[in-house]
Amino acid sequence: MNRNVAEAEADPPIEPEASPAPAGPAAGKDMSPAEFRQFGHRLIEWVAGFLEEPESWRVLPDVRPGDLLAGLPDASPAEPEPFDRVLDDFERLIPPATTHWNHPGFMAYFATTGSGPGILAELLTAALNAQAMLWRTGPAATELEQAMTGWLLRLMGLPPGWEGTINDTASTSTLYALAAARESLADLDITDSGMAGRALPPLRVYCSAEAHSSVDRAVMTLGLGRAGVRRIRTDPELRMDPHALETAIGDDSAAGIRPMAVVATTGTTSSTAIDPVPAIARICKDHDVWLHVDAAYGGPAAILPEMRYIMDGCDRADSLVVNPHKWLFVPMDCSVLYTRHPAVLRRAFAVSPEYLKTPEGDTVRNLSDAGLALGRRFRALKLWFVLRYFGQSGIRAALREHLRLATLFASWVDADPDFERLAPSPFSVVVFRWRPTQGPEEAVLERANARILEHVNASGEVFLSHTKLGGRYGIRLAVGNLRTEERHVRRAWELIRGAADRLAAD
Ligand code: PLP
Repeated sequence: MNRNVAEAEADPPIEPEASPAPAGPAAGKDMSPAEFRQFGHRLIEWVAGFLEEPESWRVLPDVRPGDLLAGLPDASPAEPEPFDRVLDDFERLIPPATTHWNHPGFMAYFATTGSGPGILAELLTAALNAQAMLWRTGPAATELEQAMTGWLLRLMGLPPGWEGTINDTASTSTLYALAAARESLADLDITDSGMAGRALPPLRVYCSAEAHSSVDRAVMTLGLGRAGVRRIRTDPELRMDPHALETAIGDDSAAGIRPMAVVATTGTTSSTAIDPVPAIARICKDHDVWLHVDAAYGGPAAILPEMRYIMDGCDRADSLVVNPHKWLFVPMDCSVLYTRHPAVLRRAFAVSPEYLKTPEGDTVRNLSDAGLALGRRFRALKLWFVLRYFGQSGIRAALREHLRLATLFASWVDADPDFERLAPSPFSVVVFRWRPTQGPEEAVLERANARILEHVNASGEVFLSHTKLGGRYGIRLAVGNLRTEERHVRRAWELIRGAADRLAAD
């Protein structure tokens, strides 16, 4: 007999103490595929129902600050919780305390859509969890981003020769564009030597009085200070006055200030005015100043041949931003920054630590070279899904319908002697106010219109926002959600008219 066997028979081994095999979330294990399927089905059902009946929710929730917070425990659970309970809590707590941007009555700010194909893409993005800082860490994400930014460029009728990257927001894209503009002042050597403690001329960025506040933030972040922004007056239609721009650049240059960039806007935030980009581009060329175009909202309209004029002159810009998460049915967040000088943009952010070097070297694009963030989400996937699901025809149909609805609403305002529009409506936003013929003074009008807005928003059916144009308080109605139909816009008008009638009767 084999000695080992004999020993084994004589002296059976002591079984190690039985310990349960680690399993489940308590052992730090991820959800099992079976559970994922089970909860995934429940979630998809919930989302489908939500998209089917978004109007079962108030567009603006009936909550006060702190309401949700007060209902949440102070600390995370010590032990795993049944995921069904988590989902129950989501359904109970979150949608009722959410402002529903995917609601057809959402017509505040710039209305947007998280469309079905975009939502499904987000699920896959999370599943792949690709972090595309380098081509090597996200080959598909990198190359799809390259392809999608190319598709969008063509769709908007811009010529080839631009490089696009996808960022989170237009604020980030504009910051990067202005960083590139600063880098383009090569003689100042700012990227290497910084701005503090040495003799540099003050740098200046020009934009219209109506430009978005992201320009100020970018300029402040880049070390130019608030005084680094010079806001140029607008014409009666709230477009930048190019003569005033040229004078400002000339005066500043004569005073030893270095013009760094001009930001022109195609679709301003308050009134959707379109700055005269061809004239601005000529001025920028004459004075050798970087031109950045903010088409964050307006850009997608250029997909319509009849609206392509909004991009006139943009082919001469140095950089341009457009946000598919605003008016191109892509869920938050997705902002495309284009530049004709990708090498300058990269120089503005160039650092190359050893641990990020890859065998591919310079033969590939590494997305993180074009900005501050090292980590890059796979945002191109949702753009791909949306552009393919709707096709050019579907996108055009949706944009045209939004323009039609805004024009219809504007016609009601124009036809009503007690209302007036405060600005032209070249896109799908209408800015207007109640102003009875025997019009009271401005302060009274402002209070009255604020009350109308409050009344409409209290309905929970429609959500509008406001702005001020030339010191006058105006209500903004923005059409941009795919589910918004004529009946929703009619209902908004009905609520506005009703509130105005009540005010008049007071
Ligand atoms: N530019 C314009 C014209 C905008 O209207 C906005 C926001 O509404 C922005 C930039 C900033 O966009 P984001 O929220 O993507 O930073």
